[in-house]
Amino acid sequence: MTPINSEPKISFQNVTRRFGQSSNAFLALDRLNLDIADGEFVTVVGPSGCGKSTAMNIAAGLTDVSDGRVLVDGKPVNGPGPERGVIFQQYALFPWLTVRENVEFGLRIKGLPSAARKTIADRFIDLVGLKDFADALPKTLSGGMKQRCAIARAYAANPTILLMDEPFGALDALTRVNMQDQLLDTWSRERRTVVFITHDVDEAVYLANRVIVMASRPGRLHKIIPVDLPYPRTEEIRLSPEFAEIRNQVWYAVYHQNSQAKSTS
Ligand code: ADP
Repeated sequence: MTPINSEPKISFQNVTRRFGQSSNAFLALDRLNLDIADGEFVTVVGPSGCGKSTAMNIAAGLTDVSDGRVLVDGKPVNGPGPERGVIFQQYALFPWLTVRENVEFGLRIKGLPSAARKTIADRFIDLVGLKDFADALPKTLSGGMKQRCAIARAYAANPTILLMDEPFGALDALTRVNMQDQLLDTWSRERRTVVFITHDVDEAVYLANRVIVMASRPGRLHKIIPVDLPYPRTEEIRLSPEFAEIRNQVWYAVYHQNSQAKSTS
């Protein structure tokens, strides 16, 4: 997809994060520079501990930087904001609220009247395929359905950016593939900017315009791999030699770091 707007939607500028006290400080993220275009879908991969979640939490406004800054629409991030929806691996649904009440939650906080809340909630519940479960409580839903409910809730709040940290990590393989297709379908209709962390190289390539590969010790940007495959992504694309070629590039970029580290340690 061609970016619509030339100003980056999200701009990481020399973003550095240390944890701990000065002499023992641990460098979790070292001068991350990265621009993400409006409407872009980027996935982020890399070995465990390379700072993926730290970078996302900084963009979400949930973690401070030690140095550098993140701009969203040209403005520095100083905390969470309604234009950024965050989805974690653990679906944080309120167990005592139904699917519809969960999806309406943010809208209620914004003070929307009941009829408007219902219209918006129904639209997104429908979009994620939970129409028949709108009045169900989370405990009666499967993991995939709970996560779809969390996605509907994030979408209903109308963020222009979705920050997703291994959102499908806990799902079985088949549900995961369905969720990927559903997310892409939603993205192509709604055109949010998506930053999606995953451990799964196939998932990273299948979803993205670009795959951001990070490296560890210290956490840093390693490589950016463009995915020049058309949307909609289909099973045919997933099984194509072009897909395999890009997946192999990403795989090498992620796992070669480890073998280099091992061979020199
Ligand atoms: P990833 O998401 O790539 O697995 P994280 O961003 O979670 O990596 O973590 C990067 C590094 O920073 C890890 O070594 C982790 O242990 C460390 N780290 C993350 N959060 C904290 C924290 N609150 N206090 C201390 N160290 C942390």
